[in-house]
Amino acid sequence: MPSAAGLNSPCIQMYFAAPMVTPQSSVTTLQTIAPLLASQQELPVPSARIFSIICIYNPTPMDLGLRNRTAIVAASSQGIGLATAEAFAAEGCRIAMCARNAEALRAASDRIRQQHKAEVFTEAFDVSDAQAVHRFVESVVARFGSADICVTNAGGPPAKGFLAASVDDWRRALDLNFLSTVYFAREVIPQMQKNRWGRIITITSITTKQPVADLVLSNAVRAGVVGLVKSLSNEFGKDGILVNNVGPGYTATERLKDLARSRSAASGRSQSDIFDGWSADTAVRRLGEPREVAETIVWLASERASYITGQTVLVDGGNYKGL
Ligand code: NAD
Repeated sequence: MPSAAGLNSPCIQMYFAAPMVTPQSSVTTLQTIAPLLASQQELPVPSARIFSIICIYNPTPMDLGLRNRTAIVAASSQGIGLATAEAFAAEGCRIAMCARNAEALRAASDRIRQQHKAEVFTEAFDVSDAQAVHRFVESVVARFGSADICVTNAGGPPAKGFLAASVDDWRRALDLNFLSTVYFAREVIPQMQKNRWGRIITITSITTKQPVADLVLSNAVRAGVVGLVKSLSNEFGKDGILVNNVGPGYTATERLKDLARSRSAASGRSQSDIFDGWSADTAVRRLGEPREVAETIVWLASERASYITGQTVLVDGGNYKGL
C-alpha cells in the first residue's frame, strides 16, 4: 500500500486509475489510508480529490464476474458469433451454441472445448424457427440449470436497393433479423426472471445508426431490433435483466467477403478496392476483427457493465460519422 505522502507520484496515480469498484475494496482502502491522511500536516492533494480517488481505488485486478454463467450465443459457427462464444468460454462460462450447419458447429465447438476446457452444448437449427428456439433454450436450461446470458445473432440480409428487394426478401429479413430476437427473448426472459439476473445482447449493425446505401433490408429491419431492445430494457430492468445492442462496423468475416463480392459485381470495382474503401472510411483506417466485437459483448454482459441497459454500442473503428 503506498503512503499518503506519495499520492502524487506517477506510480500511485496509476494505482488509483484502476477503474473497477467493489464496495469492499473501497472500504478496505479507506480504512487503510484514513490514518495516513490524518497524520499529514499538509495533504498532498486537495482533500475532495483524495476522497474521490479513494472511492474509485480498487486493488484487485479486473474480474468480469462471469465464471460459471451460462451464455447462449446464437448463429455461432463462424464470424462474430463464434468469436463471442470463444470469448465467453475464456471467461469461464458454460456455452450453448447454434447454427444451421451441424458439421461447422461441431468443428467450432470442438475448438472451444479444447482451447478453453469449457462445457459446450450445441444444436443445429435455423434461428428463424420459433419452435426450434423454444426446444433449444429448454435443453440449455435442462443441461446447465440456467440461461443467464443470451446473445442473439443471425446471418445478415442480402445487399439490395429498395426496388430490387422483393416482398419475400422483406419477410425473410424480418424472420431472420427481427423475429429470431423475439423468439430468443421470449424463451430466456422467464428463466432470467427466476434468478433475478440476466443479460440479452443483440448483434445488429452500424446500420442502426447510419444507414448503408445498398443495405435497405438491414437499415429498416434492424431499427426494429433497437426499438425492441429499448422496450425490453424498460420492462425487465426491475428483474435484474439488462438488454443492450451491439452494432458492428466493417468486420473481417465471411459476411464481409460476401458483401465485397456483391458490390464488386454491381460496380465493376475490384474486391480489394472495396475493402480498401471500407478501411479508409473508419477513423482507425482498418477493418475490425470479430474478437473486437466479441470482447465488447462480453464486457457488456459482465458485472463491470451493471448500470448499462437499453443502449446501442457501435464497434466500428469510428466509421459512424455522427456525434
Ligand atoms: P457470418 O456470415 O460470418 O456468420 C454468420 C453466422 O450465422 C454463421 O455461423 C452462420 O452459420 C449463422 N447463421 C446464418 N443464418 C442463420 C440462421 N438462419 N440460423 C442459424 N444460424 C445462422 O456473419 P458475421 O460477419 O459474423 O455477422 C454476424 C451478424 O453481424 C450478421 O447479422 C451481420 O449482418 C452483422 N454485421 C456484420 C458486419 C461485418 O462486417 N461482418 C457488419 C455489420 C453487421
